[in-house]
Amino acid sequence: MKILDGIYQLLTPFPQFTFDEAKKLRVELEARPRVTKGLPYVLPYMVKDGGDTLLIDCGWNTDDAYAALEIGMKEHGSHPSEVNRLFITHVHPDHFGMAGRLKRLADCDVIIHEKDAEVVNARYFAPKGLIDDMGRFMQMNGVPPLESPTMAQGSMGMIDKVSPVPPDTEVKGGETIKIGAFEFEIIWTPGHSPGHICLYEPNHKILFTGDHILPTITPNVSINSQTHGSPLGDYMRSLDKLDKLDVKYVLPAHEFDTKDLQKRISEIHHHHEDRLAEMLRCVDAGGSTAWEVAGRVKWATGMLKEFEPHMQRAAVGETIAHLEYLYERGQLAKVFRDAHLHWLPV
Ligand SMILES: [Zn+2]
Ligand SMILES: [Zn+2]
Repeated sequence: MKILDGIYQLLTPFPQFTFDEAKKLRVELEARPRVTKGLPYVLPYMVKDGGDTLLIDCGWNTDDAYAALEIGMKEHGSHPSEVNRLFITHVHPDHFGMAGRLKRLADCDVIIHEKDAEVVNARYFAPKGLIDDMGRFMQMNGVPPLESPTMAQGSMGMIDKVSPVPPDTEVKGGETIKIGAFEFEIIWTPGHSPGHICLYEPNHKILFTGDHILPTITPNVSINSQTHGSPLGDYMRSLDKLDKLDVKYVLPAHEFDTKDLQKRISEIHHHHEDRLAEMLRCVDAGGSTAWEVAGRVKWATGMLKEFEPHMQRAAVGETIAHLEYLYERGQLAKVFRDAHLHWLPV
């Protein structure tokens, strides 16, 4: 789909959806946004001008997703083999999955933020250590021992659908990418991922938001054994970084493109403030683990006990991110007791 001359929105399906199902959902979701059981697709974007072809994100490394990319690019007079720059907003498998395949096909310059480049190896080339770390991390946060091995391995079934590749270019944010008449500024927006990056084109007022800002859903902002500090604090500050930009086209990696950036930023702020207040109420006077808090919170998709293991892991990680942010703001204390991390009201 053409956004404007030289900028095209493509669509690649998630593994559990066919291309046709995903395309149909793209239309339905824009007309009537709703929570689907699992995301159906990724929206990569192609920027084509002056002989250069930039691709922003790609999709899972499945034959269906590759075929969808090929069809989408052909519609606009291009082909995956013509990609000379591949910009990865963050290294989650739905955005980065096909990167290695495209690298082999097109020998493109793969651009990733240095903070996400750091996790490529641990996440995709040597995941064994990560699985063990995750198990220990979950146990420390009160996840019952029986469930933590399953939870730690929750997302590892995805690994065969990722063709990883080390980046050719590592960026920090602040650099520019020139494609024909477009001049994109890289903006570092940590939170959803430590090295998440957005691309902003001030002359055409275009902002590619990756997973940082989506029109109706909020990205998972989570802590795991690889993250440090306060990702939710980072995320909120990253929202503020974009708030002052003059933007006409908000181009996210899921759902659909939208227009009003500032309104969406304010909605997301409110969402997290509500969530923070709810989590604070779920902490016992004598202290609670993240697992206990996650079990009391109302999730959009039901209660924690009913979730699949990898969704439980995401929910516990998201809970910790909120608790850590409350700690950062001086609203909670934490103490290590009986081999578990407990959060306490102050
Ligand atoms: Zn993501
Ligand atoms: Zn995503």
